[in-house]
Amino acid sequence: HSKIEGKNQFQIYSPDMNLNSFKMFTLKNDLKKALVKEEFLIYFQPRINPLTFELTGAEALMRWNHRKWGIVSPIDFISLAEESGLIVKMGEWLLREVCRQIKGWLEQSINFEKISINISSLQLFQSDFVQTVSTILNEEGVDSSYLEFEITESVIIDREEHVLKTLKELKSMGIALALDDFGTGYSSLNYLRKLPCDTIKIDKSLINDILSNNETYDIFEATIRLCHKLNKSVVVEGIETYEQLSIIQKLDCKEFQGYLCSKPLKQEKFLEFLHLGKWTNESKKQMMIQAN
Ligand code: C2E
Ligand code: MG
Ligand code: MG
Ligand code: MG
Repeated sequence: HSKIEGKNQFQIYSPDMNLNSFKMFTLKNDLKKALVKEEFLIYFQPRINPLTFELTGAEALMRWNHRKWGIVSPIDFISLAEESGLIVKMGEWLLREVCRQIKGWLEQSINFEKISINISSLQLFQSDFVQTVSTILNEEGVDSSYLEFEITESVIIDREEHVLKTLKELKSMGIALALDDFGTGYSSLNYLRKLPCDTIKIDKSLINDILSNNETYDIFEATIRLCHKLNKSVVVEGIETYEQLSIIQKLDCKEFQGYLCSKPLKQEKFLEFLHLGKWTNESKKQMMIQAN
């Protein structure tokens, strides 16, 4: 133990390693042990109806509580987990934990539609993925209708046939599918047709400068119209201002996520949100103070 730490500490003084590459180096080394050491956490970001402000559900987002670096963002460890293949086991852990949470909330008679989970392509490439999912749902006793899997269009760049078959099987099991990060890829329009998703999550980058740039607004509006025309439900991610909120109200989006209503929250804080069942200015203030 101390030997490994000693070695890492030596690296920090190495002239060709800055703090960030040192951090990534240690994260990569520590990732293998993080699952057994139970260092992963799940945060939940509320999904809200922009007209009624009622809670529709949440997106489960992973965090890593690292002994040295504190709460580590998934941006810093998901790609490491994908490179090493650890994402497969981490994803199983996440699904099981989310099922347990869902069960607990239902036992408290809390009302919500769905909890969504990000699924990495590597998980979909596993030949036993559908079986694994079905086993976990059975063991935890959770109905598949409470779950939504978020995938990105990159999933069908490789092994298209296998992935499409897997997605159809998940759908027929009753799990909803959402296409995440829409608007960031290369040939999104083709994937919009190919992937069996009922919901499209519009990436934050599409609404970023929507108020200052007419072309950006036109692209955003046309994207939403297109999704609706294809009978897809739209979730807009990254709503930070009331001006952005009023735009998506006019465009008839069914759900949004964003710092305006809440950052991703720890279990206990999200439970408070669930109990309210609704986003209010008062709840918003409280949650923003509590969120980190
Ligand atoms: P994502 O799936 O697109 O998740 C949405 C991200 O946008 C989250 O970042 C969320 O905190 C952030 N976000 C939401 N509203 C706002 C806003 O108003 N302003 C800003 N600036 N950001 C906002 P987060 O939690 O850091 O996650 C980053 C990405 O990491 C996720 O993007 C997802 O691709 C990946 N990820 C997170 N958890 C998991 C996981 O359990 N498994 C896999 N495979 N990927 C995960
Ligand atoms: Mg997502
Ligand atoms: Mg994503
Ligand atoms: Mg996204």
